[in-house]
Amino acid sequence: MKDIVILLGVPGSGKGTQAQNLINKFGYCHISTGNLLRELEKKQHLTELEKAELEKMHNGMLVSDEFIYTLVFDAILACVNQKGKVILDGAIRTLEQAKRYHDFFVTNNIVEHISAVELHIPDTVIEERLRIRIESGEGRDDDKDPEAIKHRILLQGNTALAPIVDFYKQKGLLQSVDGTQSIGSVFTLLCDAIR
Ligand code: AMP
Repeated sequence: MKDIVILLGVPGSGKGTQAQNLINKFGYCHISTGNLLRELEKKQHLTELEKAELEKMHNGMLVSDEFIYTLVFDAILACVNQKGKVILDGAIRTLEQAKRYHDFFVTNNIVEHISAVELHIPDTVIEERLRIRIESGEGRDDDKDPEAIKHRILLQGNTALAPIVDFYKQKGLLQSVDGTQSIGSVFTLLCDAIR
């Protein structure tokens, strides 16, 4: 079983659900940059930089790479030291980030523990899944605004994900799982992928 699982996928691909399944079954530590940003938002006094970055999130834009690194790298090392295994859920959204994370894994001698798994769903399914999230009351603020959804699909859909998927493919680290199947079937495929 790989100790560092990088879950890649467009919004609505099931990354959060499957991350939770992996945690329940294997005790992985969970790092979701979306959750870290939402946690940050609860802080009483936000700096101007934090406010500006969170505003981007509300508009369905990506927050800046450097801001993500300050949130995530220490959290990864803390998880690796505590539990020895970690899931990165939606933590890598640009090719630039993929490269920088890779350097970080190399520098910290953890690169051989990585497995990157793409939960693949077509763009047409994204809108449908986000719509269902809203109708079922599970939608978050950035799920509810049609403009923000459009931005997310443009900036975080399959076209945007392709260079990141290619990056891991070229390194021989990528597995792809059909994310349109049932939650149970996707989980079985995911477990096989990280073994
Ligand atoms: P999520 O909960 O994973 O869908 O993330 C919610 C929002 O947080 C995204 O729509 C982005 O605005 C922002 N975000 C999360 N992770 C990243 C990342 N690695 N790079 C840039 N923005 C991110």
